[in-house]
Amino acid sequence: MASSGARLNGLCLCGAVRFLVTAPFTDAGRCHCKRCQIRSGQSSSLIARVPRAGLEITGGADELRVWRPPTGHPKWFCGLCGTHLFAGELDAEGPLFLRLGTLDPTPNVEPRWHAWVSSMPSWATLPDDGLPRYDRGLTAPAAHR
Ligand SMILES: [Zn+2]
Ligand SMILES: [Zn+2]
Repeated sequence: MASSGARLNGLCLCGAVRFLVTAPFTDAGRCHCKRCQIRSGQSSSLIARVPRAGLEITGGADELRVWRPPTGHPKWFCGLCGTHLFAGELDAEGPLFLRLGTLDPTPNVEPRWHAWVSSMPSWATLPDDGLPRYDRGLTAPAAHR
């Protein structure tokens, strides 16, 4: 599905934080939750999941900042430019959720779902792509939030 398995570089807008994705995506989809709207300034964000071992911070680790919401995954971003990079625990084995716009080269991705469509703004429309649509998070695989 998701990626070809090629190694992908990730970086923030100012270039201070860099990372390398070494594992194929295990899942990808579009999340329409309100947090994704605020974080991205758009109606949704495209997200891919990788195992923790498949992501290596290669630069600017000192600039990484995290927001830990009361529910859901911690959100990692660059403290200098504010770019949101990924979500999940860096000190655990659980998956990380990548913000796909940060990756270079642009990976081949086949989104599999739309999550949190009940939170979509009235000015956004879903494409007629035949993918499953979930009112809220996914029941399986585990929900990104
Ligand atoms: Zn930055
Ligand atoms: Zn979301």
